[in-house]
This record gives sequence, C-alpha cells and structure tokens, in this order.
Amino acid sequence: MGNKFSIYTLGCKVNQAESDWIASRLVNKGFRYCSFDEDFDICIINTCTVTSKSDKKTRQIIRRAKKKGCMVIVTGCFVAFNKGFLKAEGVRYIPNKDKEKIPQTIEDLSQAASKGKPRLHTRPLVKIQDGCEQFCSYCIVAVVRGKYRSVLPGTVLENINNASEAGYGEVVLTGIHIGKYGIDFGKDYNLFNLLEDILDNTNIKRIRLSSIEINEISSELLNLIKENKRIAPHLHIPLQSGSNRILKLMGRPYSREYFLEKTENIRGLTITTDVMVGFPQESEKDFKKTCEIVKDIRFSKLHVFKYSKREHTRAYSMDGQIPPIIKKRRSRKLIDIGKKLRESFLKSNTGKILDVAFERQHNGIGYGTSGNYIKVFFKIRGRVKEGSIIKIKTSHMYKNGLWGDMYINKVFMVK
Ligand code: SF4
Repeated sequence: MGNKFSIYTLGCKVNQAESDWIASRLVNKGFRYCSFDEDFDICIINTCTVTSKSDKKTRQIIRRAKKKGCMVIVTGCFVAFNKGFLKAEGVRYIPNKDKEKIPQTIEDLSQAASKGKPRLHTRPLVKIQDGCEQFCSYCIVAVVRGKYRSVLPGTVLENINNASEAGYGEVVLTGIHIGKYGIDFGKDYNLFNLLEDILDNTNIKRIRLSSIEINEISSELLNLIKENKRIAPHLHIPLQSGSNRILKLMGRPYSREYFLEKTENIRGLTITTDVMVGFPQESEKDFKKTCEIVKDIRFSKLHVFKYSKREHTRAYSMDGQIPPIIKKRRSRKLIDIGKKLRESFLKSNTGKILDVAFERQHNGIGYGTSGNYIKVFFKIRGRVKEGSIIKIKTSHMYKNGLWGDMYINKVFMVK
C-alpha cells in the first residue's frame, strides 16, 4: 500500500476538528495528504448521521471512494447504526470512540513514508469537548457520541499555542456541547475558566466559540466575551423553535420567554442560530411563533433545518409527523426571513474596518471571516499568509458577504 491519503469529512465542526487532527498526525508520520479529487491509496471518511440526508450523502461518498480502488476506512457517527451496510460494502470501519487510533492503525497497515502538507482549516478548529447527555428528542448525536468528555485544559492550551506559533490568528473552540465543558472533571472548572486560561497562557489573537446553548451562557462568561477583544464578538445559539409547546416536545431546556430575555442581554454581539421546521405536531400557530421570535431577536444568520425522522430517537415514534410539502414551505419562508435579516446585518457593517482571518484566495481575490462572522472578500495586495488576521475596510455587499479593501501602510488600497 502506498502512502497517499485523503479525508472526506461530513457533518459538524467536531468532525472537521477530528479530521484535521488525523490528517496532521498522518503527515507527521510521513504520509502524503491529497485532496479527494486526486489519486490516493487510503481514504478516511469521517461521517455524519444527523439527518437522513447525511446518511444518503455518506453512502454516496463511500461508494465513490470505493470506485477509486483505495483502502476505505469509515469512521464517525454513521458507523454506530450502519455496520451491516459497511460490512456489505466491504469497507473497514472505526467507531467514534476509537477515532484517535486511526493514525496508528493506518501506520500499522502501511510501511511507506514520505512528506506532504495537508490543507487544513485556516481558522483551526480546536476540539475541547465531546459527547452529550441532553438527549433532545430529535437528535441522534447524543446517542452516537456518548457521555460528556472534556479535553484537558493543558492539551487545549498546547493545541492553541501550536496554532498560534504556526501563524494562525483565530482558533474556533469546538465540541458537541461546549457549555458542559469541565463537567466530567469533578472539580469547579468550566468554559469560563478555560477561556481565562487561554487568554492568560496563549498569544492567539482571536478565540471563537462554536455553538453554545442559551442556558449555559453564564453572566461571567458573557461579560468576559463582551469585555475581552481577543474573544470574537459572536455567539451561535441554537433556538430550534419559538413555540413553548414544541420546545417541550423537543426536550429543549428553555422557554421562548427565557430565550428572548437572555438574548436581550447579549445585544452588541452577533447572534446566529439554528432553527428546525416541521417537528412532529408543529402547527401553523407554532411555526408563526418561530417566525416572530426570529424577527424579534434579529439573528444575523439563520441555519434552517427540516426535521428529519431518525431511528433511536424519541421523536421517531411521535404522532403528528409533518408532510414533506409543509416542511418545505415552512423552510422556504424561514430561509426568506433569514435572508432579509442577513442583508440588513451586512448593510449595517458596510464602511467599517473589520479584523478578518484570511482563509483562501482564488485568482487574486481573497476572503476570510471577520470577528462578527461576516465573510469578507477583497483584492489581494502583496503577500498575505493564510490564517493571519488583516484589517479590511468594507464597502458593499458581495456574494454572501461584503467586499472590502486591504489596509496596507495605513492606507486602504482601493481598486
Ligand atoms: S444538546 Fe440536544 S441537539 Fe445538541 S447534541 Fe445534545 S442532544 Fe443533540
């Protein structure tokens, strides 16, 4: 077997963080990273099973990888309930709990070695936590990811320092349920303490939190985020529904009123969210409440999901499943609302100077993400290192974000 490998990642930021980790370990062991379009000897597929659409995509990718004639190793959430399919396809599989063994397993299977550099995220994802015990009634993640497990603070700091030394300006702290960080340590140490330690013991310019539950944003955590310029002024807080009846059926631990009151205190930060439509028994009245709250809070970005029936979850056998056509209509309406909110958020950010973590460039046009979570495009002037943070003065809306000009030698380079 040769030494070229590729990783195809589906699903959440935790999967992406884990794939980045596997890729760097393999490169350190002398394997050569390839993109999925190239030819390679080993293909790792890090899967997702959160919706039936993710399952379908996972099956397609496994079949595409097999056609390349390489060794296929499947890991991730899809593995838990699809072993029969994986066996029938004749591919190797490694469950979530053993993901960390993948680099060693591949090394054991291969003798070859030569160097290459993986194309990883330019805003490195640092995994701080895994597992969930909330068991929302629609969610398969808690079933397939297992109990709360936090990464030791020392390891988190080391990973962030490595990213900072490699020239990256921003890291994203990811996990399945980061608000529960530290709960498994058996001592009084939580996400707030971790952030304080990161601020004190690393030089990273910007830290961003990935998704966090509204009831887990303590006032000390919120104050720290608001007051410290090194923490991105952005929170992604899943709402899911604006109807108390549906929130209860979903097993979400807050009410519509609580969410409204709490987000009022968060004003000044960018708030993005996930909303689900078509949950069992969701009436027009329930859906209307979701539309209203979304407009009231004025989220800067909405991720709209259509409820998808997942076996092994409580909602699977609930009465009142919603027909696909209604889900589609509700999803379109909410996406429309989201687009309008996004547009007005983007417009309110034109003419501003934003600190942008530079990600990629194509034909001289670069793009990156600002602290307040806007994709900013600009013409590249001189050499800009991927991952670094640069100042851009925004001028107008462009694609799904803003266009701006690079700030060089205290002058904005207008085209
Ligand atoms: S909090 Fe709920 S939605 Fe989020 S991973 Fe846990 S069970 Fe799933």
